[in-house]
Formats: sequence, C-alpha cells, structure tokens
Amino acid sequence: MEAITDGITVIETPNETEYYDVMKGSHRWEVKVHDHGNVALVDTMPRLAPVGQTADFAICQAARVSYGAGTKKVTEDTGLIRYLYRHQHTSPFEMIEFKFHCVMPIFIARQWIRHRTANVNEYSARYSVMPDKFYHPSVEDVRKQSTSNRQGGEDQMDTKTAQEFLDYLDQAEECYKTYNNLLDKGVSRELARIGLPVSVYTEWYWKIDLHNLFHFLRLRMDSHSQKEIRDYANAIFALIRPIVPVACEAFMDYAFESVKLTRLEIEAIRTGKPIQSTNKRETEEWIQKATLLNLTDHIPSKDQQQQEEKKQ
Ligand SMILES: Cc1cc2nc3c(=O)[nH]c(=O)nc-3n(C[C@H](O)[C@H](O)[C@H](O)COP(=O)(O)OP(=O)(O)OC[C@H]3O[C@@H](n4cnc5c(N)ncnc54)[C@H](O)[C@@H]3O)c2cc1C
Repeated sequence: MEAITDGITVIETPNETEYYDVMKGSHRWEVKVHDHGNVALVDTMPRLAPVGQTADFAICQAARVSYGAGTKKVTEDTGLIRYLYRHQHTSPFEMIEFKFHCVMPIFIARQWIRHRTANVNEYSARYSVMPDKFYHPSVEDVRKQSTSNRQGGEDQMDTKTAQEFLDYLDQAEECYKTYNNLLDKGVSRELARIGLPVSVYTEWYWKIDLHNLFHFLRLRMDSHSQKEIRDYANAIFALIRPIVPVACEAFMDYAFESVKLTRLEIEAIRTGKPIQSTNKRETEEWIQKATLLNLTDHIPSKDQQQQEEKKQ
C-alpha cells in the first residue's frame, strides 16, 4: 500500500508472517514490590514479534545486518544471541527497549538515577503535592549494620531496637501534617517539600535499552546492592524475562552468574600457590571465588593469610 504525505511516498510493506503482541494485548504488567512501591512494564520495542518467536528476534535482526541474512531457525538465533553476549557485541541488544512506570521512595530513586543511560521523566514536587506515602518496613525487615561490609546491612535487628527504629520513622512521617499546613498557608510547593524525609515516594517513567538494562540489573540484582533497590531490580527482571527469554538466559550465564578471574587468581590456580596479593580484601574475594569453584586446595590457610598481611 502506498500513501503520499507532503509529496513524499510512504510504502507500507504487507506482513509476510503473522505477528503477535509480546505483552499479550495488555497495557501494563505490574509487580508490587512492597506496600506502596511498584514497578510496571508499560511498553516494549519491539511490541510485535513473529509468531513462534520472542522479542529476542530483534537482536538477531539487527546482528544479521552485519553478519548477513543466513538461516533464521530459532535454535540458530539462540546460538547467535549467546555468541553476541559472550563477545560483548552489545549494539544488537540496544535494539530492544522497555518503558517502565516505577513508584519508589526517594532514597531508592537517588541510587537508581545514577544509571545515566536511561530516559527519565519524574513526578514534579514543584508542580504537584507530594503523596502522603512513606516507605515503612516491617519489624522483620529492619537489618543490623553489617560487620564485614561498611556499606551494607545484614541479619535481623532485635525486635525492641527494630521497634525503636520504626517509631523514629513514625516521627519523621509526622512532618507531612506540617507540610500540608504550610501549603495551605501559601508556602510554595518547591520549598515546602524540602523538610520531608527521603522515605517519601516519588515516581517516574523510565525507558532503557536492553544492553543498558542488563548493566543496571547486574549491579542492582547483586547481593552487594541495597535490598530495597534489589527488590525493584528483581521485579524488572521478572517482567522482561518472558519477553526476551534467550537474552535473559545469556545474561544469567555470561554476566550475572559468571565469575571474573584476575591475572593473580589465574596464576594462583595454575601454580597451586596462594594468591600473590598482600591486600586483605583481594584475598577475601579470591577465597569467595575459590570456594564457589570448589578450589578448596587453593584457599590460603589462616597462617598464610596472616603472613601476607604482615608484609603490608
Ligand atoms: C553496590 C553499589 C554501591 C555504590 N556505592 C556508591 C557510593 O558509595 N557513592 C557513589 O557516589 N556511588 C555509588 N554507587 C554508584 C556507582 O558508582 C555508579 O554510579 C552506578 O552504579 C551507575 O553505574 P554506571 O556509571 O556504570 O552506570 P550508567 O550510568 O548506567 O552507565 C553505564 C556505562 O556507560 C558509561 N558511561 C555512562 N555515562 C558516562 C560518562 N559520563 N562518562 C563515561 N562513561 C559513561 C560507563 O561505561 C558506564 O559503566 C554504588 C553502586 C553500587 C551498585
């Protein structure tokens, strides 16, 4: 079919194969992350995939521009996607995009926004009134300061102290009444908001391509990430997995659940000697990897570790 717009001919190519909507005709797939927090998939590119394939097809479609048409069986597509992922041929993964609507506390949004490769449009607390919604974990979710990771929390806090923490949050949330009163008295929204705690909720639309989303997920699904943002990252992964299952599996196999070995670690495996590092943290990281890889013979003894530490 042809149409002429402003003297330019637009040719509409008829479909050679049958297509289906990868979101099954739905306008929103949502995961409730906690009380007021949620993340919803609201659109994807491609939105249509050939029947019998998943949106993964768009990765191969782009890659085959460089590698030639070749055969197009689904199994070959899987091999191609896994090859591209292993060899960090990343641009075909950028051909897939996801748009999310995310509702999260501001302390999570601050971490999230550090990922600069997404397109964001956030709720304006200058234009609109902030919601009377605050992140308020349950007693069981209150964590102790980690003793091994200065940036982390671990293990459940005793109930009495956890309750003290929740009372402290209650007090912070009381600010909302004052915020409202000040708005009523005519204080500008852009100033009135600045006394609210970072547990108050914000929301945004967040659009990102699959290559950059995997980078975000690798960092934020990781156990070193704060649990509250990890919950969102896990929710996002659950939303995209049915749409691009092959790419997601490659991500798990070659990125998220893979282990990167340093030159010193390879040397330790080859020689069977303790890792040649006097850095305590590097040695601890090697012990974690060696344990995972069942290389228990390569783990330095406590004596060896102390000797190496003395060299520092
Ligand atoms: C567990 C954890 C702890 C953290 N702790 C802290 C902390 O204590 N303090 C703190 O400030 N931050 C902290 N961060 C944030 C972290 O330093 C990164 O800013 C964040 O993870 C975003 O990573 P990124 O820059 O790789 O991602 P993106 O912004 O998504 O960028 C993706 C990639 O694009 C490239 N890129 C994007 N923009 C640029 C640019 N302008 N110049 C060059 N290359 C670019 C880089 O290769 C980058 O890796 C922490 C993050 C994690 C996961």
